[in-house]
Amino acid sequence: MAQSTTAEVIIVGGGLAGLSAAIYLGRAKRDTLVIDGGNSMARWEPKVQNYLGFPQGISGEELLSRAREQARCYRVRFKRDRVVRGRIRGDHFSLRGEKGSYTSQRLLLATGIFHIPPNISGIQPCLGQSMFFCKDCDGYRVQGKAIAVYGWTNEAVDYALAMLSYSSCLVIITDGHTPRWNKQHAGWIREYNIPVYSQPVTGIRKTRRQIRALCLADRSQIAVDALFTTRGNIYFNKLAGDLGAKVNRNGEIAVDLEMRTTVPGLYAAGCVTPANCQMIIAAGQGATSAQAINRDLFEESLKTHSLRSRIHPPPKKMAHAG
Ligand SMILES: Cc1cc2nc3c(=O)[nH]c(=O)nc-3n(C[C@H](O)[C@H](O)[C@H](O)COP(=O)(O)OP(=O)(O)OC[C@H]3O[C@@H](n4cnc5c(N)ncnc54)[C@H](O)[C@@H]3O)c2cc1C
Repeated sequence: MAQSTTAEVIIVGGGLAGLSAAIYLGRAKRDTLVIDGGNSMARWEPKVQNYLGFPQGISGEELLSRAREQARCYRVRFKRDRVVRGRIRGDHFSLRGEKGSYTSQRLLLATGIFHIPPNISGIQPCLGQSMFFCKDCDGYRVQGKAIAVYGWTNEAVDYALAMLSYSSCLVIITDGHTPRWNKQHAGWIREYNIPVYSQPVTGIRKTRRQIRALCLADRSQIAVDALFTTRGNIYFNKLAGDLGAKVNRNGEIAVDLEMRTTVPGLYAAGCVTPANCQMIIAAGQGATSAQAINRDLFEESLKTHSLRSRIHPPPKKMAHAG
């Protein structure tokens, strides 16, 4: 394998969290490398409406592309690769990717998550168009429409209750699963008259990427405009595990308020942490982690008397003008 690529800071993940951190670290003049597999969830959103500064919306792809361009202005380097293993060697992190190996003093994991889609044939093309994972991102855009919430847990009921702010035309679909919500949630379903359909879903009727109806096993169809799913997430936390960082029961990487993990020198930001999974929050966490990384490196330099330069020559002293 070719020689290891080194950087002062490596960021694994070039989504919203990783790119925001990269911009901050580049501007702090840290030698920064972003290693990215190129699968940011943001790519699935055709029109982001809740990101600050874009009143007409912006596509997730365009937002990522602008952020990469902005990071390049500050000499951040990029590598398209998927990191498969991480190790700590002395005071360095050592990473192995499918295409190369990498070494850094500080490491930020901004690897994100994968929302598990419903197990319904033909649904994939509807992702981000009429099938959604996030009420806070997409509830507003489907207001007044016919909405189905897919799930069988308390979370599905919580979702349905929250969606009532946007539409009173709402059903819960359990797709053949026995409901696992508790008494309190069952009470709320009754109180707000939310219909529950428990037959398996056999397919969908759609026009291009727009769902028109869900087809049930008893051959009935439920006309819907939007499907929200609550099947949970897969957290891309393997590297945190390799490096010995604490991961909580959900699979989220545990971090403090400045995005430090339990391993010194290792940070995490974005949806792979216990954050509310929103673009602007991921970007904010990326910036927070970068500030902490920069400050930690600065303090280390003071301790080791290795700040990058000393005053030479000092600025000229001028005679008093007045
Ligand atoms: C359909 C859809 C619509 C959405 N719409 C909105 C919206 O309108 N508004 C909003 O605020 N949020 C929205 N979101 C959520 C938003 O996309 C996320 O909050 C945001 O992308 C999280 O940023 P992140 O940096 O944590 O993760 P991501 O943006 O997912 O980036 C993670 C990156 O890490 C890379 N990676 C992972 N593991 C490795 C590895 N081992 N080696 C190298 N690279 C790796 C991935 O390839 C990916 O590029 C939407 C999500 C989806 C799925």
